[in-house]
Amino acid sequence: MPEGVADATPRRVPVGIDPNRPSIARVYDGFLGGKNHYSVDRAVMDRILEVVPEAADIAQGNRRFLNRACRFLATQTDIEQYLDCGSGLPTTENTHQIVHRSNPEARIVYVDNDPVVLAHGRALLEDDELVVIAEADIFSPSTVLDHPLVAQYLDLSEPAVLLHVGTLHHLEGDGGPALMQQYIDALASGSYVVFSHFYDPEVPELTKVAKRIEEILVHGPMGAGRFRTREEIEAMLPGLEIVKPNATRGPGLVPCYQWWPDGPQLKTPSPTAQCIGGLVARKP
Ligand code: SAM
Repeated sequence: MPEGVADATPRRVPVGIDPNRPSIARVYDGFLGGKNHYSVDRAVMDRILEVVPEAADIAQGNRRFLNRACRFLATQTDIEQYLDCGSGLPTTENTHQIVHRSNPEARIVYVDNDPVVLAHGRALLEDDELVVIAEADIFSPSTVLDHPLVAQYLDLSEPAVLLHVGTLHHLEGDGGPALMQQYIDALASGSYVVFSHFYDPEVPELTKVAKRIEEILVHGPMGAGRFRTREEIEAMLPGLEIVKPNATRGPGLVPCYQWWPDGPQLKTPSPTAQCIGGLVARKP
């Protein structure tokens, strides 16, 4: 483990089902309109909504990006294995359901460390022979990569899709690039990485939005949630070729809603929707 990575995470111990501590997965689920959250999670949501009323646009933009990126890779590549780190609570459309629509033989390993996510995930996947959920700390790449379920379901000497969607902003400090390098080193040439992160677009109005949410997440009971700049986020994908994100932009990070949208933008996204950035990249 490179220096700085191991100590960079403020919440190494899973929150468990302690109803007195908010959980990342449950707060996110709340912003997506899910039902799996407690009053302590709603208190965090309310504080965020007080200062940024459109905050749910960040979660929704992120999840829709994940869905489009999975559909893209399932239809446009022949890759048959997916490692989804920090998978979150099952919601309406999950990675395996999207991928299996185009590629029913694909094997998917979800990874999370939140007991509520693990319990719901195991219940959902009980009868599925191709999909499994592993308990591991995604900020310790070796514990993920060496996990027995990863070895059993995936062959990382062949191309794979690695998802780190909405995860690295929960890592404090500047250990992100070194941490992601360990994942990327483990991937075969021709693999893809799907990545999203809280984004500070460095426009004064939006930097203010980012700082307001960050203040609540970092200095509140969640303890983590950093908005980073384009330069800081792209530095987390060393050596990868970023896929062109839409018809008009060159390769690079874009606000998630701009990544190959489903069609013309009929609804105008709120400015806050720009505060989550996403990209898909290929390992040469
Ligand atoms: N990837 C999903 C998505 O984008 O829709 C869920 C993102 S949710 C914001 C982040 C997830 O990462 C949560 O389910 C949380 O439990 C998980 N997570 C956070 N820190 C983790 C850690 N150190 N190890 C494993 N999972 C972690």
